[in-house]
Amino acid sequence: MNTGSSFTTTATFIFLLGLLAAGCRNTETASQMDTPQPTAASVYADAIGSARFERSAVKVEQGYTVESGNLYTRDGETGSLVVVRSPDGAVTSIIDEPGKRGLLVVDTKGKSTFTEEPAYDYLTPDALDSKDSEPAAKQGAIKAGEHQYIDMLVAYSAAAFARLNTDPVAYALAQLETANLGLRNSLVADLSLRLAAVNVFDVDYGMTDDGIFAWQTKLSPYRRLYSSDVNAVYIEGGGGLAYVGGYTSVNGRSSPEAFRHEIGHNVGGSHCNNNPARYSFGYHNGKSQTYLCGNKVPYYSTPAVRDAHGLPLGDAQTADMARVWRENGAWLSGFHPELPGLRMMLVSSSGEDAYAFATLNIPVTLAENAAIVALSESVGPTSMIPSSSNNTKTTLSARLLNAKGKEVTVQFRAQRRRASCLTEINVSNMCAGFPLHLEIKYYPQFGSNASLPRGYYNGLLKLEARSSDSNWKMPINIAVSIRK
Ligand SMILES: [Zn+2]
Repeated sequence: MNTGSSFTTTATFIFLLGLLAAGCRNTETASQMDTPQPTAASVYADAIGSARFERSAVKVEQGYTVESGNLYTRDGETGSLVVVRSPDGAVTSIIDEPGKRGLLVVDTKGKSTFTEEPAYDYLTPDALDSKDSEPAAKQGAIKAGEHQYIDMLVAYSAAAFARLNTDPVAYALAQLETANLGLRNSLVADLSLRLAAVNVFDVDYGMTDDGIFAWQTKLSPYRRLYSSDVNAVYIEGGGGLAYVGGYTSVNGRSSPEAFRHEIGHNVGGSHCNNNPARYSFGYHNGKSQTYLCGNKVPYYSTPAVRDAHGLPLGDAQTADMARVWRENGAWLSGFHPELPGLRMMLVSSSGEDAYAFATLNIPVTLAENAAIVALSESVGPTSMIPSSSNNTKTTLSARLLNAKGKEVTVQFRAQRRRASCLTEINVSNMCAGFPLHLEIKYYPQFGSNASLPRGYYNGLLKLEARSSDSNWKMPINIAVSIRK
């Protein structure tokens, strides 16, 4: 959850400001990777055809550039576009145009694949009474000016993960952005969804009453580990299923528009109004169907906004999901306090090679001597050293959970990078004057990993960035999901 105290989403901007203030723009820096530069329109131009894209947000989250906005077609219809560019340049995009909705993936070589969402009736009953809800820490409405984050644990079944065909972190970010766009469009300020972790589990729980409960139970220890609020699960198939007034949804991989609808059930919404005494419903005004009532236009119902035809997108008495979000948002974001510090994700690719790589910008001033250490000797070095020879590496031994939920050791290779200085992570005094990065790699055959049984391993690796010039410290939380 939580108020805007975290560096998670803002670190790169703070960092960039520091860089500009120092007058140093001639290095490899944030300028390519971390300033919010929208993805070139040519990447999705063919896919959206003659529709006009009106971008309403662009941000960088963990090295991924996330943008979204509405699409306006020539015949006056409204759709939406979400574009996520991975650090390696690949693009994952969710297109929702009348008559054309689905997932566009453009790989690093520029090869483009569009997978259409199969027809699905979003009025299919898909909402269950919440089970086993743990009480949230915070109740009541969100407060103006105090931004609340709903921290999301995104989990894939191994079957869905294997067929995802794109970067699992990018896909998760794109999914959350479909809901965030609806919140913005419907004028729900001060509330958004944020990615806390991506995990993969080799289980086959289905889209049934028993299946969603099994998923919620399975995710329970991980949700505590990552201190996240709400679970979004992806399995093979289409459509979705969600608890109403609960914190779990199960979504079909082939329905990229399902999640924005299912999270609307989580916050307390139902489909089209069948009870004039309540307003927690979606809206169909004859032209436009909001997320909960048909899932055609990128809005949660609200009487405060009109569609492209000039018709209101809700009714104060019978269809006001924006109000439901404002009233219940603090509850949904308030299950667990967010982990303090920086956040990073390391996830094996869904391709044949299970290798994983991630990099993190650490927001220290360019002049500061700083390093990264482990919190326990069993994980890695816990104290800083001033220098070492170039291209040395640190082995980190993290305790992750195997398929049975038991702790096992998984090993990683990590380096601290400042410009051309690539060293062990705990080196503090080399190459100050350049941005500080942590790089982590997972190799299935490295060290003791070679003897790990096949399967998925999920968990949290905690490190800490420290200055050797001052008392400055910053926790680093690495959500890990790797495959052997
Ligand atoms: Zn539904």
